[in-house]
Amino acid sequence: MPIRRTKIVTTLGPATDAPGVLEQLILAGANVVRLNFSHGSPDDHRQRVAQVRELSARHGRFVGIMADLQGPKIRIAGFADGSVMLSNGQTFTLDLDLDRTAGTAEAVGVDYPALAQDSRPGDFYLLDDGRIRVEVTRVDGNKVQTRVVSGGTLSSHKGINKKGGGLSAHALTDRDREDIRLACELEVDFVAVSFPRSAEDIEEARALVRAAGGDAWIVAKIERAEAVQDAATLDAIVLASDVVMVARGDLGVEIGDAELIGVQKKVIQRARDLDRVVITATQMMETMISNPYPTRAEVFDVANAVLDGTDAVMCSAETAVGAYPVETVRTMAEVCIGAEKQRQAMHSTHRIDQEFRRTDEAIAMSVMYAANHLRGVKAIVCVSESGATPLWMSRISSGLPIFAMTRHQKTARRVCLFRGVEALHFDVTQLAPNQINQAAVDELKKADLVRDGDLVIISKGDHMGILGGTNSLKIVSVGNIL
Ligand code: PGA
Ligand code: MN
Repeated sequence: MPIRRTKIVTTLGPATDAPGVLEQLILAGANVVRLNFSHGSPDDHRQRVAQVRELSARHGRFVGIMADLQGPKIRIAGFADGSVMLSNGQTFTLDLDLDRTAGTAEAVGVDYPALAQDSRPGDFYLLDDGRIRVEVTRVDGNKVQTRVVSGGTLSSHKGINKKGGGLSAHALTDRDREDIRLACELEVDFVAVSFPRSAEDIEEARALVRAAGGDAWIVAKIERAEAVQDAATLDAIVLASDVVMVARGDLGVEIGDAELIGVQKKVIQRARDLDRVVITATQMMETMISNPYPTRAEVFDVANAVLDGTDAVMCSAETAVGAYPVETVRTMAEVCIGAEKQRQAMHSTHRIDQEFRRTDEAIAMSVMYAANHLRGVKAIVCVSESGATPLWMSRISSGLPIFAMTRHQKTARRVCLFRGVEALHFDVTQLAPNQINQAAVDELKKADLVRDGDLVIISKGDHMGILGGTNSLKIVSVGNIL
């Protein structure tokens, strides 16, 4: 079985709390787990983190942890009866003055005070992830009158999006600020910001994480029409973050699925070009929430994201509340491996016409060029402190595994999200400089990853244990005295 390069993010929830499920999920190949802060209590998250840490230590696997902030998801208020039936053509009022629990089939409250101000006749609102659509006919004080275009059952507190974007609540709510403190207490590896509008939102989140004593990487969820409206805004958000997520659930509702395919490809490409990590998320294996097998369309959706160059694919409800969480991860893993065999997934144009600004970056690029062109190379070793060098390497497509050898648990958990990168624990500070190559190759041999006669490319710094010090590239032959 080849090593899978594309990583899998799995959302934890009631389904993964069932006895034995999380363990099987990790053994099936979950690389990063996501705590969805829209659901669950702080104690739920604490328990899940403790369980992940215990299981990953027991099985000797690195598993990254991501805390996903709820953000300013705008929701309708409640219905007196829990839900209502809306028929096509009927009038339905979004009424800011209505009691929060008094919704009926005629009107419901909304948790967004500026709704009337932001509404114009002709606007379309999408409720419950786009399952229900209404068109604004009149704005009257605090009442937004609409006509139901596409009806159905609507229950309390469902999300509301505006087609084309334009509902712009501040990205970080008071609740998010509190949750950032919890995330830092839990020492998570990644904090995901929901609905950022600009680079400033990401910078603000980073400052809050630092102030809470955390050093988590910041994930920008691309899920607002405004975030992708022009290249400059998107680039600024990508550059402000460490990781971006193509959050297709909300983004698809705002811009429409027909536009989404192109935007997914563009966001993945920009992230890779700007040396950022990228996750493709939401409804990848949706029918596996209740079926043991995916549809072919879902298989192709995952495969397409792999061919687009995504670092990771993500499961949401499939693992959090689905009936087949372990099967979903297993199936995704197989699909990724299948897609990775395509030439397109291994081929690279190597930034041939680009200037490099740093020595370590030049080494990383040279390693990938050599690895992809020299016959007999079976593995790339990158002795790394921060993970910066394996990140550069993994921006270049290749069929060869990159082993990030590091003494830092944190770095090992971060690279869990990088395509094609596997972490190995390796304490370089315990070795004399002339022992490092041999010790690194011994690690690979011990794990059955290379054989005598294979070539291995090793990158490291002359002064070990120093950040950004990578300055050498060495090609060695396994079995020879190194
Ligand atoms: P969510 O974000 O699951 O938190 O809504 C992902 C998405 O919108 O796709
Ligand atoms: Mn979302």
